[in-house]
Amino acid sequence: MKFYSTADKSNLVSLREAVLSGMPNDNGLYMPESIPRLPESFFKSMTSMDYQSLSFEIARQFLSGDIPASVLQDIIHEAINFPTPLVDIEDRIKTLELFHGPTLAFKDVGARFMSRLMAYLVKDSDHKLTILVATSGDTGGAVANGFYRVPGIDVIVLYPAGKISLIQEKQMATLGENITDLKVNGTFDDCQRLVKAALVDPDIKKSLMLTSANSINIFRLIPQTFYYFNALRQIENFRSRSIVISVPSGNFGNLTAGLIAKRMGLPVQRFIAATNVNHVVPDYLNSGKFEPKPSIQTISNAMDVGNPSNFSRILDLYDSSWKKIKEDIQGVYFTDDETRQAITSVKKITGYTLDPHGAVGYLGLKKYLTQHQEVDTGLFLETAHPAKFKDIVEPVIQDSVEIPERLADFLTREIQTHALSNQYTDFKEFLLTNSN
Ligand SMILES: *Cc1c(COP(=O)(O)O)cnc(C)c1O
Repeated sequence: MKFYSTADKSNLVSLREAVLSGMPNDNGLYMPESIPRLPESFFKSMTSMDYQSLSFEIARQFLSGDIPASVLQDIIHEAINFPTPLVDIEDRIKTLELFHGPTLAFKDVGARFMSRLMAYLVKDSDHKLTILVATSGDTGGAVANGFYRVPGIDVIVLYPAGKISLIQEKQMATLGENITDLKVNGTFDDCQRLVKAALVDPDIKKSLMLTSANSINIFRLIPQTFYYFNALRQIENFRSRSIVISVPSGNFGNLTAGLIAKRMGLPVQRFIAATNVNHVVPDYLNSGKFEPKPSIQTISNAMDVGNPSNFSRILDLYDSSWKKIKEDIQGVYFTDDETRQAITSVKKITGYTLDPHGAVGYLGLKKYLTQHQEVDTGLFLETAHPAKFKDIVEPVIQDSVEIPERLADFLTREIQTHALSNQYTDFKEFLLTNSN
């Protein structure tokens, strides 16, 4: 399959190019040339398939012409190796837990899949591939761990100094070896800007084979479609139900993956785009105007994004029609106070501990269900384990959050990181002096 740029549909590239370059030169983002609709037989047999075979069937739609089936089986076997259970919360409300991977957030799914796909594509190359990642907290850990010790690949992670939790820093900046961390004196948007600038800089291209591993890489989004199908598979008679899914959103990769899944036939009525006070997409859904803003810091910091990169993919999926987009997505946003209240009340009523991101998703769903009595099943994505945000969650629930063992292990390690300004010239110098 070929991939086109959202900025110029005639700019078609191979799968290899789309995976390894991450992003086209024209400021667009790659999209698959076609989004195949899964056959009726797939939906009939979904409930009897396991998560990995389901993922293979979906992945095959995009990859079969380029990657041998046995290789794809291996990639899925290694990448999709932890469950995404659906858990009952309240009447009409279930949560899809996406935090059972190594770094306790949903980004493990995309990062693990993409790292193995890239490793396969560069295995015969003489050049080392350098992967740049801008992170607002969780991507860095997922990507660093996904690529740790993968031969032929180096990773450089950029994160905003002081704006991520100690746990997030420990997960991304304690590995060493082929993983380098830069703490940038600025915001996540600065980190993203530095990465984008380096990717299109001709001086850098001369000495480094660079790519990015943000949600701008289409091969992080494609594996995220797997768990939407895996979620519905766990609902009895899912085909005759009226289902909505609430997605706590920042850069809108997760939601875009859901929209791609819907295009493939996922029987979901609607998605809810739930954000914190960084609400440029809910604003767009209400007004038809997209106006990027500087990001505002919140307690759901992985969603503190003022100019969500995947928005152009959403426009592309719907031919830029505001009307069509609104049919499939409702936008809604919440303050930190509302988020804290949701964590408290859900804990009190059901005993379940939400993390701040999942809490935003829960609030979005709850609001939607109140307005739509006809919907019988609402899901919200629980994108991170509450232990990752225990500094926020524990004072709110006035109780301790249990730390999973894989997280406790990270906490014992030493942070190794380099400080960097938010100026591109400094980043460029770092890349050029540290290359080779
Ligand atoms: C990254 C992240 C999000 C936002 O996901 P997007 O795909 O960027 O919209 C939400 N919650 C958590 C915990 C995250 O790490």
